[in-house]
Amino acid sequence: MLMGLLHNQWLKPAGLRELQDKKLRALIEHSYKNVPYYHSLLKKAKITPNDIKTVDDLRKIPISRKENIRELTLREITAKNADLNRCWISRTSGTTGIPVSVPWDPKTTTIHILTHIRFMMACGNKITNRIVEIGISEWLPTNHLIQRIGIYKTKNISPFEHLEKQIEEIRKFKPNALFGNPSCIRLVAAETRERGVQEIEPSLVFTGGEMLDEYTRKLHKDVFGAETFDHYGCNEAGDISYECDKREGYHILSDSILVEITKDNDVVSAGEKGEVTVTNLYNYAGPIIRYNLEDIGFLLEDDCTCGRSFPLMKITGGRKSDAIQLPDGRVISTITVTDTLNPISGLKQFKVIQEKKDLFLVKVVKGRRFSDRTVEEIKQRLRDGLGDVEVDVLVVDEIPRDKSGKFKWFTTRVKYKGLA
Ligand SMILES: [Zn+2]
Repeated sequence: MLMGLLHNQWLKPAGLRELQDKKLRALIEHSYKNVPYYHSLLKKAKITPNDIKTVDDLRKIPISRKENIRELTLREITAKNADLNRCWISRTSGTTGIPVSVPWDPKTTTIHILTHIRFMMACGNKITNRIVEIGISEWLPTNHLIQRIGIYKTKNISPFEHLEKQIEEIRKFKPNALFGNPSCIRLVAAETRERGVQEIEPSLVFTGGEMLDEYTRKLHKDVFGAETFDHYGCNEAGDISYECDKREGYHILSDSILVEITKDNDVVSAGEKGEVTVTNLYNYAGPIIRYNLEDIGFLLEDDCTCGRSFPLMKITGGRKSDAIQLPDGRVISTITVTDTLNPISGLKQFKVIQEKKDLFLVKVVKGRRFSDRTVEEIKQRLRDGLGDVEVDVLVVDEIPRDKSGKFKWFTTRVKYKGLA
């Protein structure tokens, strides 16, 4: 299967197009027949599977937004012939703070891991390399068969740990590559430099989950001597695009994902900014069809000089994290805190505010499955990660965006002049 995926990146445009058309037809037919949500969506739009023959026909299907999906039951977005007991439930809130759950069957999980391996290989990573993962919980299922047979040897380190301990564990494992949220790896890099630790020498750093800035890329080069490669993805649809070793943009995984850039339900042309709307061609348990991620991006007109036929895109803006300090001296990234709350069902939206070093306020908007247990779960999860702190939960009707229109997940009222 990996060989097929590796081959697909070099297909000629016509061959790639043929593959996409074939996969799309099969996906639409399956979703119309088996997925209650898409059946009624297509029916309402007076579309039958026969109307969708090529990728060009995709735009006939109405776009689904997070607000359309988030209040549906898992059953409504799951294929009738999928066994939910065997599915991994991927849950995320992305950049908008609106959580959505999507089931992934075992085959989908395998394809996802393999596409991820393909990304790493495109940047020079050998499949037998040792990789330390920091702070990417809920992103990749662990202990999958592929990992158990020795491909993609990983060690997971909690970003909640003291930086000193994280560095010690990395030093012992001697990884060839690091993988995680840029803000978490940046903290490790800054601390490594501060302490003058010499023995951490991964040649590669892979990032994802939030915006990577050039300062962080350079810091990884200066401290570890490592090249950093970023990818863009989401928990609902998996990996979407990645940088190859030329770093001219982000290659869309066009054999697995269709990306459209849309504005008010219209598709915009290359170079023009709009919202990223995706269709996942391989998740048959929880299909994602014309799903608007509400991230802003654009397609590049030119192909990459590496020769891969997968077109290039770029994301602008997006989530960025800060570093905060805890009462026991630990310094962690805010994405580590907010990601801990993502798996909790019953939350329509949430925001964490560090009022004092040891006092955290969580504002929540109730979802359909909200209960007293939800509040307890929030407190438990935060205390598990943050240690001896007080956690207050406040139920509100809405959480406004900030003046720039962006949703801010985390605010701190504690001044901290961090390392990075
Ligand atoms: Zn390339």
